[in-house]
Amino acid sequence: KTTLDNILWQRSLQLRDRQEYWEESVEGRRMLESRRSLPAFKQRDSVLTAISQNQVIVISGETGCGKTTQIPQFILESEIAANRGAFCSIICTQPRRISAMSVSERVAYERGEQLGESVGYKVRLEGVRGRDTRLLFCTTGILLRRLLVDRNLRGVTHVVVDEIHERGMNEDFLLIILKDLISRRPELKLVLMSATLDAELFSSYFGGAGVIHIPGFTYPIRSHFLEDVLEMTGYRVTPFNQTDDYGQERMWKMNKHIPRKRKSQIASVVEDALTAADFKEFSPETQESLSCWNPDCIGFNLIEFLLCYICENESPGGILVFMTGWDDISSLKEKLQIHPIFGNPDRVMLLACHGSMASYEQRLIFEEPANGVRKIVLATNIAETSITINDVTFVIDCGKAKETSYDALNNTPCLLPSWISKVSAQQRRGRAGRVQPGQCYHLYPKCVYDAFSEYQLPEILRTPLQSLCLQIKILTLGSISEFLSRALQSPELLAVQKAIEYLKIIGALDENEHLTTLGRYLSKLPMEPKLGKMLILGAILGCLDPILTVAAGLSVRDPFLTPLDKKDLAEAAKSQFSRDHSDHLALVRAYEGWKKAEEESAVYDYCWKNFLSVQSMRAIDSLRKEFFSLLKDTGLIDGSPATCNSGRNDQNLTRAVICYGLYPGICSVVHNERSFSLKTMEDGQVLLYSNSVNARETKIPYPWLVFNEKIKVNSVFLRDSTAVSDSALILFGGSISKGDTGGHLKMLGGYLEFFMKPAVAEMYQTLKKELDELIQS
Ligand code: ADP
Ligand code: MG
Repeated sequence: KTTLDNILWQRSLQLRDRQEYWEESVEGRRMLESRRSLPAFKQRDSVLTAISQNQVIVISGETGCGKTTQIPQFILESEIAANRGAFCSIICTQPRRISAMSVSERVAYERGEQLGESVGYKVRLEGVRGRDTRLLFCTTGILLRRLLVDRNLRGVTHVVVDEIHERGMNEDFLLIILKDLISRRPELKLVLMSATLDAELFSSYFGGAGVIHIPGFTYPIRSHFLEDVLEMTGYRVTPFNQTDDYGQERMWKMNKHIPRKRKSQIASVVEDALTAADFKEFSPETQESLSCWNPDCIGFNLIEFLLCYICENESPGGILVFMTGWDDISSLKEKLQIHPIFGNPDRVMLLACHGSMASYEQRLIFEEPANGVRKIVLATNIAETSITINDVTFVIDCGKAKETSYDALNNTPCLLPSWISKVSAQQRRGRAGRVQPGQCYHLYPKCVYDAFSEYQLPEILRTPLQSLCLQIKILTLGSISEFLSRALQSPELLAVQKAIEYLKIIGALDENEHLTTLGRYLSKLPMEPKLGKMLILGAILGCLDPILTVAAGLSVRDPFLTPLDKKDLAEAAKSQFSRDHSDHLALVRAYEGWKKAEEESAVYDYCWKNFLSVQSMRAIDSLRKEFFSLLKDTGLIDGSPATCNSGRNDQNLTRAVICYGLYPGICSVVHNERSFSLKTMEDGQVLLYSNSVNARETKIPYPWLVFNEKIKVNSVFLRDSTAVSDSALILFGGSISKGDTGGHLKMLGGYLEFFMKPAVAEMYQTLKKELDELIQS
């Protein structure tokens, strides 16, 4: 044996001694007793046998049965017991950083250890592990990053991929890579874990891998839909279908016979219910009661009503509220904290559970409340399958979800809340029946539930593929379309081609599909490439601060509110922020004001006066920080504010950087006598949304507008836009680096010629010639 083998052998013995010592201690035995009660524990032997006999196995079992905390632990224990402790290295991936952190801590605790001994974790910017760490929990993104420098995962003996049922982009991506890897590394073991019964799909993807199902148990749960909830408020609504010119619309007829006094009291409850259910058409009575609509508290009154109702009328038991995201949760939490019941720690233990909570908050979630105190947890869909809170008997489900995680290496953010699937709704509901019979309140009508899709489409089929394509390139996995054709479910060829084409236009890939320098940087930024581009150039040109706001603003719900009855006031409020023919720069000003108001604790006042959404402004604030730290990761900035904003507060510079990010979203401004019209090459005439600051102008002293998004209704409408000059477009439309000359400059040239701007076209020709020469040399 070599010296190294000897050392590892010695260490393995130590690890075994330590493990045996713990197993025989009083606490160790007590811990084992409680672990034994988990359904996964009953399958310990069959799981271990299956792993030793197969290279790949799929384990499915209901949420909370002990997959995440137990299965990797079983592997670790058995390796250590067999004196292989120091020779094994187990990696378990989690889709979210928060679960990697909380699970590793839990497993270390169950083993009577500190985090960083045999169990550790690693997420972006953070991690705890030591010399003896044999079981590492990490995010899927971290494992993908490791593959970048170590494509064979040398030294790793087991890879456990958790939560594969979620079908996240990263996980699907990882599976393609692992499928290749296991043939190169026949001794590597792969364990896939899913919370739903779709094990067959994964098993056949890996050529008939072994499947183990862990049976679970839930107590019966009573479901209430919005109709029932409204009935509880004393306000009755009946749905009816009405076919009109617009096709079939579901409408709600309000019960007219409501005493006046009650009406004001419950109007807000009902109004919340209806907006929560996202109905576009309201009966006139409803519209009347909707006139005081404030989107910042969608559903809040209804949730508050239900929480009161449960606290006053129902038996003890924890309440789990599913909300869309961190911003909603923090607003509601703030609101509840000043409530006589929910703000009283002797009656209620009010907690939040979301992707960016601190670790002490995580621990509180699992703590049992004192006698007579009710636990209320406001959670994102993280509590659907990743985190199990044991003592929940009531679930309130708002029916919507959004992803807010930026941790994943290539996660394309989809930040607008959307309806969940039937499977998700059932998962949420199931959280109520773990310890005793429970109840679930769905804040949407039964007919909406019936219209939910059965499953959520896998992320790879529903989100833009640009970031994923960059990942494939940076990991040198060959041709993008060939690689993606080997996915569990492949995206359509057209979608792949579109993504590649876009990456070429923006200069991230050259004509031969090779990464450019820009592409290399973009692949390190887990966000839409257009945001990445802006941030990179903003950092280079020293105007990062406003660009952080712009990029964050493009990722959240529009912070400028336009209530229907106060449209003019709201638009006027927005135009105060605008002196530059730019919605994006108006947001930069609004944010600067918000920041000042925050220092003076006058955020609500400020937002109210300026028709701004408190939640969106908060979300922008936290995204800015997120983007900043991601940029720091790339090494483009060192993190000191001075270098990012080198003192130049130049609007035109910022404008050019916005143009760099949003290109090829451009349209030409054509002035006529009284006003102007807009044209794009693809759509011809386009219009501006009425809440754009540019829609209020009669003249725009710039030849172009860049925009983020166009929406086709009857005509094509542009959302937010920024006016830019010829030179900004020429210099920053696309990217100037080797290989782009053909792609983007040709296209830009086409644009200029199309809109007959001869002088500019000439300028462009000269520039192009010079550039070509420069590149040649
Ligand atoms: P699964 O992965 O199958 O959904 P888990 O392994 O996450 O199940 O959870 C198993 C049990 O361990 C659950 O009852 C859960 O409440 C409990 N648990 C998980 N993490 C913690 C923790 N940090 N503190 C206390 N209990 C926990
Ligand atoms: Mg789990």
